[in-house]
Amino acid sequence: MNDYHIQNNKITDSSNSILYDAFNPNNISFFFEQVQKKLYKLLQDKTKKGIQCVPPHELLKTALTLTENNQNHSIIEQLSQIIDLHISTGIKVNSSGYMARQFSSVIPVSAIYDVVNSLCPQPASFYECGPLPNVADKIIAKKFAEFLGWEDHNYGMISTSGASLANLTAVITARNIKYPNIWSKGNSTQKTVIPTIAIGADAHFSVSRIAGILGLGQQNIIILPLNKKRQICIKQAKSILNEAQQNGKDIFCIIGAAGSTSVGAIDPLKELADLAHQLNAWFHVDAAHSGSFLVSDILRNRVKGLQYADSFCLDAHKTLFIPAACTLLFYKDGSKAKSTFPVHASYVTEEFEDEVSKFESGTKNFECTKRPSILNLWVIWALYGREFFEAKLNYLVKITAQAYHYLNSLNNFEVLNVPESNILCFRYLPKEKLTEEQLNYLQIKIRDKIRDDGRYFISKVDLDHITALRIVVMNHEIVLDDIIDLSKHIHQAAQSILKNL
Ligand SMILES: *Cc1c(COP(=O)(O)O)cnc(C)c1O
Repeated sequence: MNDYHIQNNKITDSSNSILYDAFNPNNISFFFEQVQKKLYKLLQDKTKKGIQCVPPHELLKTALTLTENNQNHSIIEQLSQIIDLHISTGIKVNSSGYMARQFSSVIPVSAIYDVVNSLCPQPASFYECGPLPNVADKIIAKKFAEFLGWEDHNYGMISTSGASLANLTAVITARNIKYPNIWSKGNSTQKTVIPTIAIGADAHFSVSRIAGILGLGQQNIIILPLNKKRQICIKQAKSILNEAQQNGKDIFCIIGAAGSTSVGAIDPLKELADLAHQLNAWFHVDAAHSGSFLVSDILRNRVKGLQYADSFCLDAHKTLFIPAACTLLFYKDGSKAKSTFPVHASYVTEEFEDEVSKFESGTKNFECTKRPSILNLWVIWALYGREFFEAKLNYLVKITAQAYHYLNSLNNFEVLNVPESNILCFRYLPKEKLTEEQLNYLQIKIRDKIRDDGRYFISKVDLDHITALRIVVMNHEIVLDDIIDLSKHIHQAAQSILKNL
């Protein structure tokens, strides 16, 4: 009992001083100072940087040293080293050399808001503990409803941690509505038909996984072929869906894409919605990438038809430039979302619906403790307005179009898509005659060499049997000169690879 002493009427345990140190508010400014210094340096560094891929065993060793090292350094020194390691191993989203993926350069104040989000938690599922994110959901939903012309509908929106989860959630809703017994009695209740979904051939892997997760069977998925623009081909889709129906398949959900991951293609949404509704199926759109075009007066028309979807999602952490993960999942009829998770838990849900329970999202979303990342989005909307998102999106799409025209004008490049968003695929075509296989191999080697040179970071994608180089322009500081410079580096890389082939 010696350890305990009473101080200010509180019982404290002196062996717990580590706790009091760790939570001491006076330390916050020391931490912030470190973080601020390093982040300032990171954000104002304009050199071109690709990625430096440290082999996992080396990074593990470095990180282990930092883990075990804490006896010899002060907490601040230790923190400083950890932040340095983080920054040096992170993707350089603020560099104009970064063009590989859909991860965005993040608007700083939104990221800084994460500290508030973390230190003053508002877990977002239930109003009682997370009132503000539940309110922010409604504000953001209303903004988008206006763009969609949904103001008069009973629309709904829940936010999720990622489009993978949003796509799954929407398909669960669709399934439970079509087969009301399946939630309680399981898949075996469907004896006469085979419940399944139809997806485009370019669907994101999170979409094709859904069949496995829900026990529909991966093999039962209906894959809809694409046209030249890599959109779902409506004509072929019609006959394939009819044939599948005749073979006992019951298509309860058709999933289109607005901004496919490979090339950013946007499916014919109105036509797909009509097709789905003729089949008495739900129409969901994976608009993770390009759904955000709704905020732009110039780009909105590119996602026309989204308003006919029963549900669609968009990733605010991609093309609304806020920290991951923040996805918006919209329902044209918000009351349908209640069918998604018809299980109630007495410790969080109420027996009787009241203003609060009607308002909150908890019974409609997958997560329990949920990060209130909607606040990162709301805070930007409140500070800068719609025009911020619009300006950045318009620019990214414009510069991608310029990149298209430029690469198209070069003899030794073949551009593979007319960009509908900020994604552009192309390949290098040397003067030498190469087989298709050699050509594909060359693209991979170019990607590797460009990456290893450390100046640019680009990706590759397989388009049917063609291996393509792929850029995604996510940084508004990228200008046409960067694309020109990149094309020169690709040309040089190709020449040196061909010499040694
Ligand atoms: C990124 C992406 C996803 C996956 O979204 P996460 O937020 O990473 O879970 C799904 N579909 C498309 C089209 C995407 O671009």
